[in-house]
Amino acid sequence: MEQPKDATEATKRALAEFAKTLPPDTGADFELVKRGFIATIPDAKVLNEAGHAVWDMGTFAFAGEGCDCPDTVNPSLWRQSKLNSVHGLFEVTKGIYQVRNFDLSNITFIEGDTGYLVVDPLISAEPAAAALALMRKHRGDKPVVGVIYTHSHVDHYGGIKGVLSDEDIAKGLRIIAPEGFLEEAVSENVLAGNAMGRRATYMYGALLPRNARGHVDAGLGKTVSMGQVSLVPPTESISQTGTKIVVDGIEIVFQVTPDTEAPAEMNFYFPQFKALCMAENCSCHLHNIYTPRGAQVRDAKSWSWYIDEAIELFAKDTDVLFASHHWPRWGSDAAVAFLKKQRDLYKYIHDQTLRMANHGLTPLEIAEALKLPPTLAAEWYTRGYYGTLNHNAKAVYQRYLGWFDGNPANLHKHPPVEAAKRYVELAGGAAALLEKGRAAFAKGDYRWVAELVNHLVFADPANAEARHLQADALEQLGYQAESGPWRAFYLTAAMELRNPRPPSDVPRQGAAGQLRSLPAERLLDSLSVRLNGERAGAREIALNLRFTDTGERFLVTVENAVFHNYPGREAQGAPLVSLTRGSLASLVIGEIALPHESVAIEGDAEPFATFLSLLDRFDFWFEIAMP
Ligand SMILES: [Zn+2]
Repeated sequence: MEQPKDATEATKRALAEFAKTLPPDTGADFELVKRGFIATIPDAKVLNEAGHAVWDMGTFAFAGEGCDCPDTVNPSLWRQSKLNSVHGLFEVTKGIYQVRNFDLSNITFIEGDTGYLVVDPLISAEPAAAALALMRKHRGDKPVVGVIYTHSHVDHYGGIKGVLSDEDIAKGLRIIAPEGFLEEAVSENVLAGNAMGRRATYMYGALLPRNARGHVDAGLGKTVSMGQVSLVPPTESISQTGTKIVVDGIEIVFQVTPDTEAPAEMNFYFPQFKALCMAENCSCHLHNIYTPRGAQVRDAKSWSWYIDEAIELFAKDTDVLFASHHWPRWGSDAAVAFLKKQRDLYKYIHDQTLRMANHGLTPLEIAEALKLPPTLAAEWYTRGYYGTLNHNAKAVYQRYLGWFDGNPANLHKHPPVEAAKRYVELAGGAAALLEKGRAAFAKGDYRWVAELVNHLVFADPANAEARHLQADALEQLGYQAESGPWRAFYLTAAMELRNPRPPSDVPRQGAAGQLRSLPAERLLDSLSVRLNGERAGAREIALNLRFTDTGERFLVTVENAVFHNYPGREAQGAPLVSLTRGSLASLVIGEIALPHESVAIEGDAEPFATFLSLLDRFDFWFEIAMP
């Protein structure tokens, strides 16, 4: 395996210049991040049943307290990385406690009359259980009396089985979530799931070694935990701002904030504690209006509006503000100042992007031109550790104007390989292009190397010199990046260009397990995007489907090369296929084949076999930085 390289002189110079642009570090964040510390467990190391570490901050010891910034890491990201290294149980205020950096997200415990209300039980069960154990050890062995999911992202619900037993769940212990939670939690990652999942391996640096030339920090937190993930539906949903409920003597006032950081999200206020939870609508950096793993762009205007509403509703009575990532802010003035700048951060990006778009500037131009005003730039918590001004500006443009910049030269461009061949020819051949690329590399113009040499990689991926030069350039861009996801994207591409994965004859499945846990209608929806339109051609198929595990029936049809499913309908004379959702998922991904004992067919067996043969299997490990 070919190893990463050192920072070049050009990168060292660029980072030294960059460091001069950073706000002065008063050390205030390092005080906030440690304030209220009670205890932790060594390296926050959490094992699963098999004894494997699903979380281990020891692997980030190279970036801990007192470690100097290496020249392969952006100094600002290094600072954030150190802040995200502080792990353990913390008192937010008397009665509210957080365990931080036992996972990407925070888990919060509120003390009620008899037990603990849990906010956001992390990504996986093992870290959530370890956090609860730490809480119980230091605050008393009490039961969990309820759970709140702040929003529909997996790092805020996936670990629930670490804090609730199956009995708790069966007896309907209160699980409170914003309206639309379940729908959004299952929908966001399904239809484009394979592509998003693969791209997420780039974004979170999961394939990278953890060291100064590899993964350092995700910006939002260290990384993602690797334990048992589950989705337990809420027992009640909050649809109205101003809704008040009481759980075990804890009063909660909700603010519903749809279409902000997540499609279903809510902030809430605890009057007894004068404490405000801002969910993930505020964090100690610039968040993503567009997440580079791929997702629908978020609404920056709405996001900002709801932060403003939170100020109106709660801020004057807030002694402490905490959130589902990063560290709290104490004192009403500090909370208000933070909220106002977070509010204006998203609105500024929104408004200025559209201002420039209305002058006729295009996304690349706007993203390059956009700079924060001095008052926003003065804060560390507006910096692009996760989102960046650059890609967030493009997201705002996309939301209003779409992918097309209006220039017809970009309306019907050649796809990458076709364009690449022509660019290589234009350059005078592969050797001439490489020479230009090396010259640009020597000057430290890595963005240009990446654009230029990418053409040669796509024209001829077997050209090892091209792949290596491209890797070298992306690596330096990664070392220079302030954003954790940008760094991870660059460094993962460099690694894959240097060490290409051997080709495979069969699709290598990724998170196909997700298919099995989908509601029947969602599972069928997801098959629509597997139907190979070309192969389906003019074929017409109608089937009656019965899911034996849920009792649901569907009519499913193929016509015009399109797959439809109709719950509750039936076609006279069509074959009846009875099977579980799991069996259907297994058939689709090729784990089992027809005929199979778990599948009963009444009538002609051929249409169902034909239907399955028209579905594509997705290879999780498709190439990204190569054709
Ligand atoms: Zn989160």
